[in-house]
Amino acid sequence: MNNYPNFKDKETFKKAFKAYLEAKYAIDFEKSTPYQQYVVLGEMIRYYIAKDWNNTNQVTFDTKAKKVYYFSMEFLIGRMITNNLMNAGVYNVVKEAFDDMGIDLNEVEHQESDAGLGNGGLGRLAACFMDSVASLGLPVHGNCIRYRYGFFEQGVVNGYQVEHPDRWLKDVHVWEIRKDDQAVEIPFYGYIQMSTVNGKLVVEHKDAEYVKAVPYDVPMIGAGNHIVNTLRLWSAEPASTYPENDAFQYARNLREISSMLYPNDDTDEGKLLRLKQQYFFVAAGVNGAIRLHKKTFGTVKNLADKVVFHINDTHPALIVPELMRILVDEEGLPWEEAWNITKNCCAYTNHTILAEALEKWPVHLFKRLLPRIYTITEEINRRVLLEIAQTYGPNSKQAYDMAIIKDGRVHMATLAIHGSFSVNGVAALHTEILKNIEMKVFNDYYPGKFNNKTNGITHRRWVAQSNPELVEILNKYCGEEWIKDPEKYFPLLLKIADDPKAQKEFAKMKKARKDALAAKIFKEQGISLDTNSIFDVQVKRLHEYKRQLMNALHIMYIYNRLKSDAEFKKNYHPHTFIFGAKAASGYVLAKKIIKLINTIADKVNNDYETNSLLKVVFCVNYNVTYAETIMPAADVSEQISTASKEASGTGNMKFMMNGAITCGTLDGANVEIGELVGDDNIVIFGMTAKEVTDLYEQGGYNPWDYYNNDERIHQIIDQLTNGFFDHVDPNEFQMIRDTLLGKDNYFVLKDFDSYVKAQEKINELYKDQKKWLHMSIVNIAKSGFFTTDRTMRQYNQDIWHVSPIQTVKAPAKKDTEAKAPAKKAPAKKTTAKKAA
Ligand SMILES: *Cc1c(COP(=O)(O)O)cnc(C)c1O
Repeated sequence: MNNYPNFKDKETFKKAFKAYLEAKYAIDFEKSTPYQQYVVLGEMIRYYIAKDWNNTNQVTFDTKAKKVYYFSMEFLIGRMITNNLMNAGVYNVVKEAFDDMGIDLNEVEHQESDAGLGNGGLGRLAACFMDSVASLGLPVHGNCIRYRYGFFEQGVVNGYQVEHPDRWLKDVHVWEIRKDDQAVEIPFYGYIQMSTVNGKLVVEHKDAEYVKAVPYDVPMIGAGNHIVNTLRLWSAEPASTYPENDAFQYARNLREISSMLYPNDDTDEGKLLRLKQQYFFVAAGVNGAIRLHKKTFGTVKNLADKVVFHINDTHPALIVPELMRILVDEEGLPWEEAWNITKNCCAYTNHTILAEALEKWPVHLFKRLLPRIYTITEEINRRVLLEIAQTYGPNSKQAYDMAIIKDGRVHMATLAIHGSFSVNGVAALHTEILKNIEMKVFNDYYPGKFNNKTNGITHRRWVAQSNPELVEILNKYCGEEWIKDPEKYFPLLLKIADDPKAQKEFAKMKKARKDALAAKIFKEQGISLDTNSIFDVQVKRLHEYKRQLMNALHIMYIYNRLKSDAEFKKNYHPHTFIFGAKAASGYVLAKKIIKLINTIADKVNNDYETNSLLKVVFCVNYNVTYAETIMPAADVSEQISTASKEASGTGNMKFMMNGAITCGTLDGANVEIGELVGDDNIVIFGMTAKEVTDLYEQGGYNPWDYYNNDERIHQIIDQLTNGFFDHVDPNEFQMIRDTLLGKDNYFVLKDFDSYVKAQEKINELYKDQKKWLHMSIVNIAKSGFFTTDRTMRQYNQDIWHVSPIQTVKAPAKKDTEAKAPAKKAPAKKTTAKKAA
């Protein structure tokens, strides 16, 4: 199945690796650097899977299989090397060979830059999806932009966040392959000329400024099944024709398109460049897909039987008018037929109900940049409204609510809903809110279109790769098959949840992971942590609705209490509060909250009266790689968003699968976590989604009542501005005080008391280690539901309907062990092929 024999066994690999490295860098092997070793290892893996990759494409083509193109502005991939070694089934061969050669595999893995092509949860979800579909053998391919600069690198100076460009492509990107022959030219600006020639509509785009989209393909390697899917990253380059009057300006403008990822999570950027990026990768991806489809079938009429375009959040919603443009203008189909095909090809996932996140584009901007796409969108809107009028009459409220273009703006969510056969939310509660409140009008009009697909995480990265001690435990109690079906095998842990010997093993695992995190934090930030303390962790993007501020205020309260209440101090189990969060560069309040957390850390970590009981750490530059060390080390998972605001969350699932106890509100997937583990194995507090929604309807509440009536709140609010903190201007946190006592839109003060009680409960529960370990084991046992393998199966059953790719031979049985097979490498032909 694979004719690149260099991973056959340890000795063969050692020889090949050494020869390749010496040839590539023209140096003695002994003098090579870890970076050079990384590049050689990466390239060898890519050669190793090349045949499978080609084969996967060829089989899908030959069998004329239906496939999915998953369009997402973000894929937060992180490092790929460990994942690729494991999924390709060569991890142990390489590990043992490196041990022999005196190379630290871990150090080599750390040479890879973290591919941060995303902001947070949404992009990480897309990356987890890619791992699962490849592992399930489903023909699902990603489309995104090859941003030269990914999500910014965070620094902290004097407690303030500073942003540095993420130059992840500065060294070679070993995984990608540039495909010049599949480049696509994309038109912007200009004007449209329509004429009729022999009774046929001819649409010409005049004076357009073309940009060439060049694909770079990145392999998405399935676990032990010899399936390799493709993540296609589009890069902007000069087209064959360009405006002669200002070639330099043209070159600068086009470079911008694939230059950087917008660092905004959950806010609508509304910038021309962002719209350009969206059309750029949508048009490139859709045109590429149609080209391949026509090569396979010679017609577009069966497109809906063979292709699904998945629209991940509204960012790629231009797929809808772009597909219409191709079908009507280029393929000459009548509008109705084209619309039918389009509606049956597209599926849309909604990720948020936050009003500020719903994308809307000013008509004047849209029209100028994308003249033809605009007229098509107008026509879609006109026809949709005519149809709505048949049900609700003209000028109805429903018609207004469901219009795509209104008040001078193009509404992308609305466009995506009309143009898709499926609209899904990302957790049960979120989908219910969409159906019954936020998008009720659409759900009434399109019964059956809305459905739920609860998010997930890939257990291969978040357990197999990140938590070796847990892997050992799972192998022991669940059997090595767990990696193939965690939902089936994890529950075997329930039997040993109270077994003292097993509990000890879990405790040891957690301690080892806490030691690893503590070592990393000490190395990077010089803060030493007590790994017998409770690791209470909140890592996620910084946003008011996620309420890092409530966590920070609670720490201030604990500090005050420790300083003033001896009885409390005696009962307080040592705590380490760990944060990690990037704030969008323009989000002033979010940045203030980072400063506040660092200021609190500075104060409490340096107080010798309390710092054996209370420590605070702000982990700098939280990203996927960091998360791989943090998730397994947590005792407590902070999921404290204002109920109804967090669509799902996926961090909550990573923590759960590694045995942390959720301290959370009834929001997003926390609700489902709670249902799975039961009330005794989760700590829930705070307002419910319904209470939140009702309170908003009443116009909110008066935070001053809480300030005046709750001494704890009074004290901490005052401390924000009364000189309590050393080395900061007393006005530093005025803005935070004003926000809390102004509207407190996210109900921080309102939920504060309930949060304090939840934290008290956690303190007591942790002291009873038998009880705590029971809870922890139950959480792991029930977490199998959250594998993205399950999520992807459900997408496929209900939305995509594609069949697994038929590989030539069934994969060797041992290929999918948690640790790739040490002794048995996959069967390979021995066709000689020389490296380098
Ligand atoms: C999982 C993950 C997220 C999402 O976390 P939430 O708590 O669900 O918001 C964000 N960033 C990184 C790096 C992640 O790995």
